[in-house]
Amino acid sequence: MNDRAGCDPFDVPSTVHALELSHVVKRYGDITAVNGLDLVVPEGGCVGLLGPNGAGKSTTMRMLTAQTIADEGQITVLGHELPGDSKAARARMGVVPQLDNLDTTLTVEQNLVVFSHLYRVPKAKRKDAIERVLGIANLGERRDSKVDELSGGMRRRLLIGRALIHQPQLVLLDEPTVGLDPQVRQELWALIDLLRSEGVSILMSTHYIEEAERLCDSVTIVSHGSAVAVGAPTDLVAEHAGRDAVEIYGSPERLIEIEAEMAKEGFPTRRTGTSIAVLGLDDAAGRAPAGERRPANLEDVFVLLTGEEIA
Ligand code: ATP
Repeated sequence: MNDRAGCDPFDVPSTVHALELSHVVKRYGDITAVNGLDLVVPEGGCVGLLGPNGAGKSTTMRMLTAQTIADEGQITVLGHELPGDSKAARARMGVVPQLDNLDTTLTVEQNLVVFSHLYRVPKAKRKDAIERVLGIANLGERRDSKVDELSGGMRRRLLIGRALIHQPQLVLLDEPTVGLDPQVRQELWALIDLLRSEGVSILMSTHYIEEAERLCDSVTIVSHGSAVAVGAPTDLVAEHAGRDAVEIYGSPERLIEIEAEMAKEGFPTRRTGTSIAVLGLDDAAGRAPAGERRPANLEDVFVLLTGEEIA
């Protein structure tokens, strides 16, 4: 017998999302910081929120933690509607703020104890929860160090670990590696990878395209408060930039001429410092310009769609 016998064949449960924003708007006076944003984080997915300065990323993060209330649209976090149900949502998510707000007068372990109380980790489980986080953040040997004795990378690991004390199902990371050197950034990437492998859903805002390419299953590129592209990094590159880019170097005057010539040919271009990258060449055949060929990347897509160079 068909084990679905008796089931309504059209009664397929809707896809569960860890987080969903639908047509969300947030205004500050005359400024529309978020302008009809749609954003989804599937359960167990890692989604990157990319956008130039002022695109509305931080405002979006603040709405997800109910520090700011949307003027329009719907926000659902782990099945809880915001802002009404924000307390229940907060209890099941971990938040890693952009700015380090660790208590510098306390030790590593004391910071975790405070958060274990704040997030109501049951008394019987508190010790294990703290040991678990010390392990994840690789700070076991520094448990008795005061926060202001830690390096920048250690502090950031503690900040992320602190957000995991109650084993959240969803983690929001606001610019998790901003201002850190490449070595420390890679350490944190390994930590974020570990979370992903444990099935934690993740939304991270970042300025670092490489970070999004490396960690995220999908990215949402935001410009002026709304999504201009959504998809897996490789799909977005194929769709908007094609397989290869041709890099052409020249004087500023020559670059302006090339831009105009390529526009006439219908090829999108982007400035990359002293050169111009010509994109969309998949069907160019003999019309492709001469220059240095390289694979197109997500940064090309970002600049094409937002008009902004990456810092
Ligand atoms: P960045 O990458 O620089 O952090 P962002 O993408 O996070 O930028 P937001 O900080 O969300 O962008 O800002 C979006 C817009 O909303 C900007 O024009 C900003 O000046 C404005 N804005 C944000 N917060 C406020 C506020 N509290 N009052 C007034 N305007 C605000």
